[in-house]
Amino acid sequence: MKNRWNKIEAKRFADNPQSLRVYTSRLLGQESQLVLHGGGNTSVKMNTSDFFGNDVETLFVKGSGWDLATIEGAGFAPERLDVLKALAAFGTLSDSDMVEQQRIALLDSKAPNASVEAILHAMIPFRDVDHTHADAVLAVTNTANGKERIDELYGDRVIVIPYVMPGFALAKLVYELTQGIDWNAYEGMILMNHGVFTFSDDARASYEKMIELVSEAEDYLESRNANQLASGASQMDPIALAEIRKQVSKLRGAPVIANWDQSPEAVGYSNLPSIESIGTRGPLTPDHSIFAKRIPAVLGPNPQESIETYASEYEAYFKRNADDSLACLDTAPRWAIWPKRGILSFGLNAKNASVISDIASHTAKVVQLSENLGGWTPLSESDVFDVEYWELEQAKLKSNKTTPALQGRIAVVTSAASEVGRVCVEDLLKKDAAVIALDENPIVATLFESPAYLGIACEDEDADTLGSAIKCGVEKFGGLDILVTNLSRDASEESTPNSDAILKAAFPFLLLGINPSIVIIGSRATASSKRQTQIARDNALETAGEQVRVNLVIPDSEYGAENPEMPQLENNSPNIESYAQTSGDHSRLSGNEIAHTVSSLAVGLF
Ligand SMILES: [Zn+2]
Repeated sequence: MKNRWNKIEAKRFADNPQSLRVYTSRLLGQESQLVLHGGGNTSVKMNTSDFFGNDVETLFVKGSGWDLATIEGAGFAPERLDVLKALAAFGTLSDSDMVEQQRIALLDSKAPNASVEAILHAMIPFRDVDHTHADAVLAVTNTANGKERIDELYGDRVIVIPYVMPGFALAKLVYELTQGIDWNAYEGMILMNHGVFTFSDDARASYEKMIELVSEAEDYLESRNANQLASGASQMDPIALAEIRKQVSKLRGAPVIANWDQSPEAVGYSNLPSIESIGTRGPLTPDHSIFAKRIPAVLGPNPQESIETYASEYEAYFKRNADDSLACLDTAPRWAIWPKRGILSFGLNAKNASVISDIASHTAKVVQLSENLGGWTPLSESDVFDVEYWELEQAKLKSNKTTPALQGRIAVVTSAASEVGRVCVEDLLKKDAAVIALDENPIVATLFESPAYLGIACEDEDADTLGSAIKCGVEKFGGLDILVTNLSRDASEESTPNSDAILKAAFPFLLLGINPSIVIIGSRATASSKRQTQIARDNALETAGEQVRVNLVIPDSEYGAENPEMPQLENNSPNIESYAQTSGDHSRLSGNEIAHTVSSLAVGLF
């Protein structure tokens, strides 16, 4: 594990322990083998003063909702240290009550909620405390004889805590097991099946101790030849992918984006002869189950059947472990192992799917390391269930969040680099759709920076090129629901864009889409509006039997993006004035208004 401490950079923060903590936290966050998306936490204890000017011993601990990779000073919750220590000694407390008490102990009402591991940080008698869920350490703890291996690896240099659920129960157990010990005699603390703590009165020393302990675990795996990972080449199958995504969306009760990891490592993992067994024993660390459920689906020759089986087994798992107070989540898998093809991760939008994909790829790696080391043995089903159905997580489900109009839907937009095209793409992204943007202009590849955007430069006259561009988009996001054919750019009688070619390429995927729809943007400013109407009618007739809706938008007049930050492109768009002149009432219609109309038609009401 690389030590990322940089003397020159660190010097800038040397005078301020809080800034230095931000710096070292980010060093941990940069390493996905230490923490993933919101995982892990850090803290620093300092003296501050309250409103009345009294000295208060304060614990600045990572706030929930913040990520170590990008954390700032505002991401640390300032907690009264004496209150947290008193909570550690308290008899019993539900996790909701613990969160409430931590809220009350804040010195800043605007601060985020402190991490659920805050009490643990409070009771460790050192200024700086670091906590990660390092892959290498988990690979050692998650084996049949994990405890003996940890003893063999670290000897009595670390405190070892048996697994117990994170939150108050864990804080309490650590409190009980560490009464009267000399913390100075230890270099760190290993939480079985969970992670590592290091501590020091110096931020650098605590950070470097973390790197050291994790590196020792890596060396241990290496010395026992546990590091071999399988690899393989993927077979493409975009239609099967779109079918799988449709079925998962149905079970989820919402359209999902499918992230397809076709890397040699993912394919190698999917091809392991023992994948049905080792792939479904449990998660790396229990908090992954909150995002990715306890286990993935393993797809057989008939993926639909496998997903159905997964759903019924999930229901049985819930019934085995739940009491009456709990509501069952949807039964859709969050990821799936697809032999010969790799790993699929399903999210409510592109960002969410990539978070799950990261969890999946780290899981695939650690499962193999642990299996090589002597048998992958994750936590028991009921331990994982307790975290997946944690009262704090159940409470989040009940909060009324509004869902963006096109969340999880996948759109393709042609002539996407034109002015109208760009505003349409922007509006679709804003409504949380994933967008495949096609244009002849190579600038389309870099028009937007978002995990939900894929820009592909291609000739819009050529059926083959369009076909492979669409397939490429489907492989990236999992399917296709919305086709926006933008004819507004150069729709003159002499040069009619090949709308048949794009429809032909998109149609097989639209048939497998969620609430599929085609929106054609024509242009009243040209002589071809009759022809555009004809194209729309033909499309509508062709697709009506298949439940694919078709709408045509012919703006009365139009001009480009209103967003001044957008680069102005050279294209065939007529200028604003000439458009305004050609409209019936000389009115000006903004590109944003056209875009809004297009996305509203794609929502599914028309
Ligand atoms: Zn943790």
